[in-house]
Amino acid sequence: MFILFVRLLVEAIASEGRCDTILPHTSTRQDRMSNPLLNTSGLPQFDAIQPQHAKPALEELISAHRQKLATLLDDSDARDFATLITPLEEMGHELSRVWSPISHLQSVLDDPEWREAYNDSLPLMTEHGTELSQNKQLQEAYQAVADRMPTDATASMRMLVEQELRDFRLAGVALPDDAKARYREIAQEMAGLHAKFDQNLQDATDAWHFHATEESQIAGIPESSLKRAQDEAVTEGVEGWWFKLDYPNYHAVMTHADDRSLRESFYQAWSTRASDQGSDPQWDNSENIERILALRHEAAALVGFDNYADYSLATKMAGTVDEVTEFLTELADKSRGAAKKELQQVQTMTDVPLEAWDVAYYLEKLKQQKFAVSDEELRQYFPFSVVKRGMFGLAEKLYGFSVVENPYVSGWHDTVRYFEIRDKAGNVIGSFYTDLFARKGKRGGAWMDECIVRFDLAGKTTAPVGYLVCNFPPPDSDGNSLLTHTDVVTLFHEFGHMLHHLLTRIDYPSIAGINGVPWDAVELPSQFMENFAWCYEVLEKASAHYQTGKALPRDVFDKLDASRHFGEALSMLRQIEFALFDFRLHACYDPAKGGQVLETLSSVRDDVALLTYPDYNRLPHSFSHVFAGGYAAGYYSYKWAEVLAADAFAAFEESGIFDTETAARFRREILEIGGSRDFMEAYIAFRGRKPTLDALLRQSGIGKAA
Ligand SMILES: [Zn+2]
Repeated sequence: MFILFVRLLVEAIASEGRCDTILPHTSTRQDRMSNPLLNTSGLPQFDAIQPQHAKPALEELISAHRQKLATLLDDSDARDFATLITPLEEMGHELSRVWSPISHLQSVLDDPEWREAYNDSLPLMTEHGTELSQNKQLQEAYQAVADRMPTDATASMRMLVEQELRDFRLAGVALPDDAKARYREIAQEMAGLHAKFDQNLQDATDAWHFHATEESQIAGIPESSLKRAQDEAVTEGVEGWWFKLDYPNYHAVMTHADDRSLRESFYQAWSTRASDQGSDPQWDNSENIERILALRHEAAALVGFDNYADYSLATKMAGTVDEVTEFLTELADKSRGAAKKELQQVQTMTDVPLEAWDVAYYLEKLKQQKFAVSDEELRQYFPFSVVKRGMFGLAEKLYGFSVVENPYVSGWHDTVRYFEIRDKAGNVIGSFYTDLFARKGKRGGAWMDECIVRFDLAGKTTAPVGYLVCNFPPPDSDGNSLLTHTDVVTLFHEFGHMLHHLLTRIDYPSIAGINGVPWDAVELPSQFMENFAWCYEVLEKASAHYQTGKALPRDVFDKLDASRHFGEALSMLRQIEFALFDFRLHACYDPAKGGQVLETLSSVRDDVALLTYPDYNRLPHSFSHVFAGGYAAGYYSYKWAEVLAADAFAAFEESGIFDTETAARFRREILEIGGSRDFMEAYIAFRGRKPTLDALLRQSGIGKAA
């Protein structure tokens, strides 16, 4: 249900309106003045916003919006774009501006009060979203607008109304009252469960550490990780090396630690987080998972779908459960042979049968032997500041704008920076915050999120603003943060999302930027950008050895490029395993049998995986994408969008990767359109044809589609 709720949070909220009348009463005006969250005239005031502002701000705003909505709906003349849609869009925009810092701060700050404030506020948002999406009168008002659509209405206008009406249908607007009430209860409970899932994962991760006192324990682990662990030990007041269980540490150990038992203990800690096999039962996500699956199924059934996977596809580019299953199966079939070969080669590196904690380690060894290029050698060429400048330079070259830091805007942490994208005339098209280094309590992974969505209606214009968040190694005591090439790819990926959010030309926030874009297409701009991190012409400008200042040498790049494909088929199968697990779990859910989570996982692994996993492995319990994020019955979207991204990038390869005409077409047909067009149509407008699997298979070194 999360997708629906995300859509509700984004679209139904955006479909609320706001009249430009005076505020309801004087005390409210005073609250507004004293509550910095309610000041939506500019950027969020991060230096003033406190957890205790969250709930009162939302309560006040939602209550004011309820009154305005009632006034709007009572006025039966207000049934066109100017009188109904514009005020609704404006109210939604205002609410999302208040909500964004709340949701953002709880994910980047290690602050129990923010977490509590978020948990207290979330039900208000969910309840309000459901209330709107189940408002029959509101749905009828949209229908009236649709019925009176002027002949000169733009495609955006038509699409906006069409999507809203679809979402009303999906939210069960036509249900009898008791079913509607049940639907609302589910929404409420689900939002809490998603948050709890993530918080359990965070707490379980934070609770684990490894303390090394002997050098022999940490042999093979790269200098940069050791330095961090040493700094951490100093903070903890102990001798030696202190490793927390964050992704950079996990990755460093799994890829480099010579001590097999150390790799195994990290693997076990990582793969049992927040589960019945984990260190502390209080963070076990087992019951959350069961409950989430049951509620998703129930909600999907309430609005007339056989299962949650069907429901999820109602808002996707892909059409049916079979289409997705066939897509994943075809990719798996085409990758399996190459993956087997890769695994056989990795096995030649050791006499011991490979276990899950050996593959990354020996793959890296084999890569070094075969291509003589290591993550650590590459890392020396990628100081964060150089990579960032190179990436901005690339975007400037492709799209003709400039990216300029504005040092006068402050964020929520002293490492946060703020950048503006300016057109040739110097106008700000959009801007974004960066928060890029790992720290305790900050949610793991990397993501882009909306701070402000573009709005340009009724003479009021707001440029979009975003958050770019990563978890790179924090600058060491010399001030260096050296990225692996994988980190570089991640940064390009998130920046791709950012451009999608910022370059939109759509005036209505509910279909601007990433809003209203089908989830299986939303990863196109991000994965498309990743391709540039594999081009020498780009990396030459985005690298400089941290000691000598020399750009990445061509021969080192050639080795990196040659190594790119190695392990790709294995990684493709692994992603397909995740995607099939997620999809089957939702498509085959049977209320009589419950989630059958581990059974489904093991049947998918029988079909797809080449390795056997230890019995304690609990992938689902930390699978936030599916149980706390918007990818439920939608994880396949990554592969789906990757096909689009590879095929789109092939257009650049055909015309020269810096070809500004191709870039302008990509910007116009894909990046600017938000959710204002059928996505396949838009893609064809860019590419001149439908996408094919060929480019992705070629890019992964697997060969052409049969
Ligand atoms: Zn992404």
